[in-house]
Amino acid sequence: MHLFSSIRPLRDYLWEQRLAGKTIGLVPTMGALHQGHLSLIEASQQQDDLTVCSIFVNPIQFTNPDDLARYPRTLDQDQALLESAGCQVIFAPTTQEMYPHPPQMRLHFGPVEEVMEGAFRPGHFSGVGVVVSRLFHIVQPTRAYFGQKDLQQVAVVGQLIQDLAFDLELVVCPTEREADGLAMSSRNRRISPELRPYAPFLYAQLLAGRQALEGGYPAEVVKAMIVEAFAARPEFQLEYVEVVDRYSMQPIEARQAVGGTAICLAAHLSGVRLIDNIVF
Ligand code: AMP
Repeated sequence: MHLFSSIRPLRDYLWEQRLAGKTIGLVPTMGALHQGHLSLIEASQQQDDLTVCSIFVNPIQFTNPDDLARYPRTLDQDQALLESAGCQVIFAPTTQEMYPHPPQMRLHFGPVEEVMEGAFRPGHFSGVGVVVSRLFHIVQPTRAYFGQKDLQQVAVVGQLIQDLAFDLELVVCPTEREADGLAMSSRNRRISPELRPYAPFLYAQLLAGRQALEGGYPAEVVKAMIVEAFAARPEFQLEYVEVVDRYSMQPIEARQAVGGTAICLAAHLSGVRLIDNIVF
C-alpha cells in the first residue's frame, strides 16, 4: 500500500498507472473509517484496478468550528483498516498541502442544495464541491464512490460532475448500518454510552415513515407524524425531516409520494448531529 501526503508524487504515480491502462477508483473520506467506508472501498476493489482512498478532514465544509475541532482523527487505525481491505493507495494531505492558499471560490448548486443540509449548514456544499473538485483533478479517477448515507451530497456531486464535465462515473453505495439500525458514521463514537441505546430511533422513524407513505398517507401527514414522534423524545432535537424526490431533492408536500422518494432527517442526540435517510 502506498501512502501519499503530497499531491505531486501522487499525480506522478497515478499518471504511470493510467499509462499502464489501469482504471482508478476514488473513495473520498474524512477518515475515522468504519464498515460504511470499507463498503465503498470493496465496491471499488471489485470494479477498478486501483483504489485510492483520500483521508482529509475538509475544514471548509464545516459550518461549526466545534464540530471541526472534535471530528475524530485516527490515521494509524485507518491505515491498518485500508491495508487489510486491500486498498492500494491512501492520499492523506495536510490542510496546507490541500489548500496552500485559502480557496476564494464559492460554489452553488441551485435548488438541489437549497433544502435540508444546504439550508441548515450554509456554505457546506460549497466546501464539499471545492474539495471534491480538487480530488477529481488530482486523482482523475475512472469512478468515484459515494455513500447513500449522504444522499444530498450524492445529488450535489452528480450536479458537479454534470456541470463541470468531469469524465468519470459516480457510483452510489447503500448505507451500512449497525445491527440495531443506526447508520454507521464517524460521529457515532461521540454519542455518550448512556444515550447510545436511543440512537436507533432515527431509522425506526424512517421505516415507519416509509410504511405510512406506501400505505397512501400524504407526505405532509407523514412528516407531521415524525415531527410529533421526535417531540415526545426529549433526548433528541430534530433539526429537519423532509420527504423529497431522491434526485432533485425537492420536497414532496401535499401529493402522495411515488417511486424515487426519500425521507431524510437530521437530529441531535447527546450533542452529536446525526443524519439518515431511506430511499424507496
Ligand atoms: P465521510 O468520511 O463521512 O465524509 O464519508 C465518506 C464517504 O463514505 C461518503 O461518501 C459517505 O456517504 C460514505 N459513508 C459514510 N457513512 C456511510 C455508511 N454508513 N454507509 C455507506 N457509506 C457511508
